Amino acid sequence: MDIQLINRIKGGLYGVAVGDALGGTTEFMNTKEIEAKHGYLTEIIGGGVWNLEPGEVTDDTMMTLCVVEGILEDPAEPKEAIGRFFIKWYESRPKDIGNIIRQVFHKYDGDWFEAAFIAHMDLGQSAGNGSLMRCLPVALAYKDTADIERITAMQSRMTHYDPRCTEVCVMYNRMAYRLLQGEDLRSVILAEVAGSEYEGHVEALPDCPPSGFVVHTFRWVLHILLHSTNYAEAVQKAANLGGDSDTIGAIAGGLAGIYYGYEGIPVRYTEAILVKERLDLLVSQLYALNTSSSM
Ligand SMILES: [Mg+2]
Repeated sequence: MDIQLINRIKGGLYGVAVGDALGGTTEFMNTKEIEAKHGYLTEIIGGGVWNLEPGEVTDDTMMTLCVVEGILEDPAEPKEAIGRFFIKWYESRPKDIGNIIRQVFHKYDGDWFEAAFIAHMDLGQSAGNGSLMRCLPVALAYKDTADIERITAMQSRMTHYDPRCTEVCVMYNRMAYRLLQGEDLRSVILAEVAGSEYEGHVEALPDCPPSGFVVHTFRWVLHILLHSTNYAEAVQKAANLGGDSDTIGAIAGGLAGIYYGYEGIPVRYTEAILVKERLDLLVSQLYALNTSSSM
């Protein structure tokens, strides 16, 4: 058993869930409102616009788990399996589906790419962060970077037609893959954004709101990761931004969780997560797939 690899895979999946559960409390608030109500939020207390139970996760984590389960069911071509888990989740009537993804589910008629295109045309845009927030499992499941890039792009295009979403998902999972190999967080981020529109925009405080627009989200995620020295600091920064805080926390938390490892996430955070048993099971299955000789 490769204990370090398990620690990183587990850190990645829990990293998403904890960032989501912590940031869910402050989603759609602004920094003034957060300060007045919570001071500086550091604990998973639930509440917020979704009236969450403490430790309850939102769409970010639930869709991430759909991607994990789809990959586990059909690692070679997971699109249809991921789609079935998406629909199963949708049919459970979750309280928090993003606009673009809701529209795609509404339009889906057997062809995900077509549904994503129709939703893009109907809404006039599809550059949300909804395919980025759930894409991490692809980097945790596959060993080959060509597989990671192909399946990461595919899962983005299932709901988000805008090529900026695909680009950011691939960049993010290339980072995740390198962190899984034990590389340094700062050098990985700087190397992977080189030549993209994010180059030169990750050090200074972003001059954009922490919104659900994928470009804004990714700028905040990279900034937070470069300016935090541990896992808790990263997800707390996201939670106290407000705006799309749960998604920014989930995305930043995924990479921070791989880099600092499961053991780097405070126990009070991991113990709070209500879907903990399901996460533990999926972590061991992801590890088995990642280390199997057939993939
Ligand atoms: Mg959410």
